[in-house]
Amino acid sequence: MHSLAIYSIALFLTLGCGMGIDLPKHDSRFNPIISQFEKDMEFFGIRGSAENVIVSFGDLDETIDAFNLIPLTRSPEVKVDGACYTVGRSQSKMLDPISKLFTGDKFGKRVVIIDTIHEDAGLEFLESLLYHELGHCSLNYEHDDNVDSVMHEYGIHSLNVSRFVTLRNFFKKVSLDEPVTISPQINDETQLSTIYEVDYEAFGERSFYRFLYDPQSREYRSQTIYEQI
Ligand SMILES: [Zn+2]
Repeated sequence: MHSLAIYSIALFLTLGCGMGIDLPKHDSRFNPIISQFEKDMEFFGIRGSAENVIVSFGDLDETIDAFNLIPLTRSPEVKVDGACYTVGRSQSKMLDPISKLFTGDKFGKRVVIIDTIHEDAGLEFLESLLYHELGHCSLNYEHDDNVDSVMHEYGIHSLNVSRFVTLRNFFKKVSLDEPVTISPQINDETQLSTIYEVDYEAFGERSFYRFLYDPQSREYRSQTIYEQI
């Protein structure tokens, strides 16, 4: 009787701390993209963090069953490339306290699963896909209807086609058609001035993008490269 009581308390504590819940293992290959996402958030003046989101390749259907994850966005009717999940939190807020008891400190934890078939898809694709999922997981964004928006239901194939304008829309909700009106501080009227720049490496590739202002022609220009390293 005595040992049973101790066992029950131990079991309760284990569940209570969320120890009984196993989460997918974070894949550190995504870290440079997550870190760039945070730099972009800072550049566009958005508070928040993507640091605690677990990102992993997996089978989306199997992962939901195995880890008891709940999709943050409505269940898609079509097969998706990736998805954001939350641990324990359900549609019904009434169930949350019970769920919290069993998931403990993992309650509300966010998990992004990218379909394993995309493991070799390349940085350009993985980057735009992860930004979409982090939009759900870190910023609680819903889908929108614009086909050129990162948060369109089917996402976009590349961020860098016009990255500055694309991310300004993503983070600041400025229309994609809105002209850029930044007038940079120019010391030398003959020099191109960099307004925004991205240069990082992940998945064996380099993502380079620069948004420049030319004071002579008074025009904006962008340069972009994805290359193997
Ligand atoms: Zn989505």
